[in-house]
Amino acid sequence: MPPIIGIDLGTTNRLVAVASWRGGGVGAALAPRVIPDAQGRALLPSVVRYPESRDEGGSPIVGHEARDQAIANPRTTIASVKRLMGRSLADARADLPYLSYEVVEVDDGRSKAARLRLPDGRLLWPQEVSAEILRTLREQASAALGVPITRAVVTVPAYFDEAQRQATRDAGRLAGLDVVRVVAEPTAAALAYGIGLRSGGIGLPIGDSTEQIIAVYDLGGGTFDASILRVVPGGSGLQTGAPTADIFQVLSTSGDTHLGGDDIDHALVELFTREIGERFFGGGGGSAPVLPPETRSGLRDLAERAKVRLSEHESAAVRIEIEAPTGSHTYERTVTRTELEAVAAPLLDRTIEACTRALRDAKRDMAGEPVSCVVLVGGATRMPLARRRVGELFGLEPYIALDPDQVVALGAAVQGAILSGAGVGRGGTGVPPVSAQAGALLLDVLPLSLGIETAGGAFAKLIMRNSTVPARATERFSTSVDGQTSIKLHVLQGEREMAADCRSLGVFHLSGLPPMPAGIPKLRVEFAVDVNGVLSVSAVEERSGKRAGLQVVPTHGLSREEVERIEAESFEHAREDMDRHRVVDLLANAKLDLHWITKQMDKHGGLLSGDELDRLRAATALLRDHIDKAQADWRAVDANAFHRAKEDLDKSSVRLHEVSIAASLREQSP
Ligand code: ADP
Ligand code: MG
Repeated sequence: MPPIIGIDLGTTNRLVAVASWRGGGVGAALAPRVIPDAQGRALLPSVVRYPESRDEGGSPIVGHEARDQAIANPRTTIASVKRLMGRSLADARADLPYLSYEVVEVDDGRSKAARLRLPDGRLLWPQEVSAEILRTLREQASAALGVPITRAVVTVPAYFDEAQRQATRDAGRLAGLDVVRVVAEPTAAALAYGIGLRSGGIGLPIGDSTEQIIAVYDLGGGTFDASILRVVPGGSGLQTGAPTADIFQVLSTSGDTHLGGDDIDHALVELFTREIGERFFGGGGGSAPVLPPETRSGLRDLAERAKVRLSEHESAAVRIEIEAPTGSHTYERTVTRTELEAVAAPLLDRTIEACTRALRDAKRDMAGEPVSCVVLVGGATRMPLARRRVGELFGLEPYIALDPDQVVALGAAVQGAILSGAGVGRGGTGVPPVSAQAGALLLDVLPLSLGIETAGGAFAKLIMRNSTVPARATERFSTSVDGQTSIKLHVLQGEREMAADCRSLGVFHLSGLPPMPAGIPKLRVEFAVDVNGVLSVSAVEERSGKRAGLQVVPTHGLSREEVERIEAESFEHAREDMDRHRVVDLLANAKLDLHWITKQMDKHGGLLSGDELDRLRAATALLRDHIDKAQADWRAVDANAFHRAKEDLDKSSVRLHEVSIAASLREQSP
């Protein structure tokens, strides 16, 4: 049976994903992934452009190309059709000012549905427009998977009513897709993180999955949704053997259907346009110049690109050619993150207010339970300011491990895989029933150790395998090079002693540190795995207060077999690995010692006796020898001898320590 795909039908962007089972039995693991188009792009803009007139013929253009032409062809380019799905003209009234095309009401005697009218008089159902995009996604998935796809799980906002859901199903049908389940977007986002797939797993204690309250903050292109969900552990799959998954209840939703990342782009465009007016149109009175559609379209792209860049960088360059009555000019400026945040802040304030409303509305149903995790959804949540504001409001580190603009599609795919598994499983084809599969994502215990790479490529484990979740660990580190202003933290998962033999989960940098001598920075690294198995790593340099972090879902897509292979390998290499780890650690420490001692000998050597100096020189030479050998090949040194040499130098340098401390005290005293 071809898989059931998952589709995120966003107002701005749509995408398709598929999840497949890896491994079998209780150990089966679900691995969802987005299916990109032939150019490798995951997102398909929800835009369809129709030919100017019927005579022109040709089929509608879907996606990127249609979007690029939108401003120049407002009346034939249909964006945001989701706003009209299953609604009457009266329902959609508030949306009309935002739509560039004509919307009319056709009373066919049974219902009064909103429809679109193209300039040549053609009438279109919103479902037809939506189907154009769905068809593109279906074809994309069929081509990528090599099987004709006919079934899908699609997502809708939690507040969609039955008419809107039915219209969504109809759009699927028009595109040749049987919509087997319509899932609320926040529920899909939770599923993508494995939330709600934890209970009812065969052989796993059912009572373990406790009720959870989760908040989903979804800031898309043109809409904002805040939802509070309750995850109720599914029924007892153990007794009945029937498929069970957790139940999601939407306790409340709040939001703003006209607030999103696009509004931030608009605010930037306004800022640019005002400046263009002042610089090239002699404007000063504050009236913005009227720019041709191509320029407006160019400015919109520039604004969005600058905004996206500023999620990762501190500044973005903007440059565009402007035709003005005074001639052609180049408008050029740099936008800083601070400027963008000033523009975005009032919009984000409104999202925070909506979250507060959602919390208030859910309060009674929450019965005193706190929100246990916050999931971020929507491309616009990549903005650091959005993450900060949400984190502050809930007092929790929000979930960002999965790509926020893919998370809904990934969750829909997980739901699709569970549904297809259930169907096949009952038919007795050997695929485990859902309860076993759902248990597959269980992270009651961590299958592999988690840690970071340290000097010389060793792997320092912070949380050991088989730890029960939630788990937390802190470790202190320092630097091994003088004047380091940036520290790279490489997070890994595995059982081997060397980082290169483990599975990389991600890298982040703690930068902007004031230069300090090696060994002086005080780096505190904290690992926390929560009940849902999401790992948050944070690092803080305590002297400067600089911090950075990373979040990942460690076991996503790791099958039982892979875990077993990793375990077996670690066993096989245990002896050698341990030796290597030991040598690498010794090497890092010995280099630090040697560095310090040579420096102090230059400065204060004169205060030592001849004997003391001789002994120090001999110990230094011996250790340097070990270091050189270990650097060339770790196998070439005897770790025990290396260790003795280091200890010997430690002992021989006691006097030197004393005199240098005394000297530095003298220097400091007035
Ligand atoms: P929707 O759910 O409405 O279809 P998306 O979740 O795809 O929308 O979000 C689209 C919005 O996310 C756009 O406004 C886009 O500019 C914004 N966006 C995408 N990537 C980033 C980023 N890296 N930084 C800031 N905003 C981004
Ligand atoms: Mg969305």
